[in-house]
Amino acid sequence: MQTNFSLAQLADPHMATSEKILRTCVHCGFCTATCPTYLELGDELDSPRGRIYLIKDMLEGGKPASEEVVRHVDRCLSCLSCMTTCPSGVHYMHLVDHARAYIEDTYKRPWHDRAIRSLLAAILPYPRRFRLALVGARLGRVALPVLKAIPGLQRLVAMLSLAPASTPRRSKARAPAVFAPAEFAPGAQRAGRVALLTGCAQPVLNPGINDATIRLLTRLGVEVVLPKGERCCGALVHHMGNEKSALDFARANVDAWTREIEGDGLDAILITASGCGTTIKDYGFMLREDAAYADKAAKVSALAKDITEYLSTLHLPAPAEKPGLTVAYHSACSMQHGQQIREEPKALLKRAGFTVKDVPEGHICCGSAGTYNILQPQLAERLKARKVRNIESTAPDLIATGNIGCMTQIGTGTSLPIVHTVELLDWMHGGNRPDAFAGRIGEGSALVAHPWAS
Ligand code: SF4
Ligand code: SF4
Repeated sequence: MQTNFSLAQLADPHMATSEKILRTCVHCGFCTATCPTYLELGDELDSPRGRIYLIKDMLEGGKPASEEVVRHVDRCLSCLSCMTTCPSGVHYMHLVDHARAYIEDTYKRPWHDRAIRSLLAAILPYPRRFRLALVGARLGRVALPVLKAIPGLQRLVAMLSLAPASTPRRSKARAPAVFAPAEFAPGAQRAGRVALLTGCAQPVLNPGINDATIRLLTRLGVEVVLPKGERCCGALVHHMGNEKSALDFARANVDAWTREIEGDGLDAILITASGCGTTIKDYGFMLREDAAYADKAAKVSALAKDITEYLSTLHLPAPAEKPGLTVAYHSACSMQHGQQIREEPKALLKRAGFTVKDVPEGHICCGSAGTYNILQPQLAERLKARKVRNIESTAPDLIATGNIGCMTQIGTGTSLPIVHTVELLDWMHGGNRPDAFAGRIGEGSALVAHPWAS
């Protein structure tokens, strides 16, 4: 694609990067076939190619974002399906991230939009505030039938509907802490030392994920550290265009993990939410212009691994008894498109004895996408219904995935249990039964036959 940026514009490194990305696009349109918003809306401006044109026009012209550009960029899920499809290697993620930051700098959103975005940014990245908000949301759910009937409250309704009906228990995995393998297998050799991102929303919504990860890793002889000073990865605010907050979170995490790298050393930084993993693997790029952080951030990104990537490098013995359960594996967009991790989670589940089913249209987003299901509730609902239909067509006993956002989104659309991949692996290797099965193991359930179903 030809571009017309001035030399003055290209002096800005962000603009120079976007210009390079724009030039790689040859407008072939292959990406439109796999873009969820284009498939649902059929509008070229809601396709990757259409958005690339809009972004090019906005950046090249040096003009403030228009209402039209904002509408179509806001509808983008940042699912990155287009990046997997694109034959020319267009780095759409970096382009749309820049566009979102540019929009936040140049466009004044309506007050209600600003209010909900500020609310989400002030609550979601902070576990204590989020937990308190969930208590409030639980009370607010009583008013859901009334609120649903009031026009203009779709985002509030979406927020309340996504909140769990009861407040989950607190996780045992709270930083700072070190979980030594010897505590679980006295005398065992240390097989590695890793930092685990405890995260912000995930440990509040499902504390069982980090607990299962620590149990499994320490049983395998790996020391797990939850470093002091670690914070939200920044993905939630990053996707809302709030670049300053995202970089503040990134710097805090780089500092926390660098202390460990330079102290007792780390073999990996493990992430159990693939949405966070995609962002942490991008810290090196996000902080490339910060002389004090560029090198440290690149090291952190190089060490970042999804839990299933790391587990694939360890020897997980096949369990003595097969569970006899069929799992529909939902690959989160951030897993398959953001990090290009496709086979490892399924291979681990198969080795643990599960029958694993691929989901039809598995490359299409479930509509979760960070805060998308709150900010774009109608489109997110359509994508959720499509995803649930496809999952249920495989007639599974349960659903496994590697991202808490997808678990929450899909979980509100189906009665099937939905669990994190690592919870199933922990369970099959001598750990606890996933919390999601509580109260579901009854007469007629395939889960009742499971040897650990008690
Ligand atoms: S597939 Fe790639 S090169 Fe083709 S239009 Fe889409 S982004 Fe551009
Ligand atoms: S990131 Fe997803 S929603 Fe956005 S343009 Fe690409 S495929 Fe479409």
